[in-house]
Amino acid sequence: MIFKKRHKNQLIMDLELLNLNNASGCAACNRKFSLGDSVVPACGGWADGCSKLIHEHEAVFDERTDTFFEKVYYNAMH
Ligand SMILES: [Zn+2]
Repeated sequence: MIFKKRHKNQLIMDLELLNLNNASGCAACNRKFSLGDSVVPACGGWADGCSKLIHEHEAVFDERTDTFFEKVYYNAMH
C-alpha cells in the first residue's frame, strides 16, 4: 500500500483504505469517505481508543502527545 504522507500518520484515501473503512465512515462527521480524502487516525470520545480514521480537517494535531485528536473532543479537554 502506498501512502502519500505530508504528515506523520496522515493517509490519503485509496481504494484499499476506502474498502476497509467505508462501512463505518468517518467517526467525526459520520459521512462516507471519498477517494483522495486526507484522513488521520485520531483519538476521540468513541470507545475504541485512538484508531478511528477521520477527515484531517476535523482533527487537531497535539504536539505534546504526538497524536491526532478529534477537534470537538480535543477542545472539550483543553
Ligand atoms: Zn469527517
